[in-house]
Amino acid sequence: MSDCLFCKIIKGEIKGSIVYEDDRVLAFNDINPQAPTHVLVVPKRHITSLNDVAPEDDELIGELTRRAAAIARERGISSGGYRTVFNTNRDAGQTVFHIHLHLLGGRAMHWPPG
Ligand code: AMP
Ligand code: ZN
Repeated sequence: MSDCLFCKIIKGEIKGSIVYEDDRVLAFNDINPQAPTHVLVVPKRHITSLNDVAPEDDELIGELTRRAAAIARERGISSGGYRTVFNTNRDAGQTVFHIHLHLLGGRAMHWPPG
């Protein structure tokens, strides 16, 4: 999608701080980190939000979640714990409408979330 910020990062039109890339998935550091590790894991194909995920996307969503776990493992935060979040639409505070899995860790998280 031409006016999508994360599609522009995927295409290299805007520079991202890339931590992982393959044919289908890109992970990059959040520009405004909320924890010592704050990585966004995104599909390269534009999907607007979790509301737009179809059954044929199940494998791709699995790849996002397993990639987040792999990055957590690499960062040494797996056993201590971390949080993974899809914000969806207004009430969750979604601001970028290209689905992204937040990986947050390196500090204790609070529950319930704000
Ligand atoms: P959400 O509020 O769930 O839609 O999350 C969007 C996230 O994208 C926020 O945490 C922003 O800090 C992050 N963000 C916005 N612009 C950029 C950018 N250019 N590079 C990396 N992360 C970004
Ligand atoms: Zn996009």
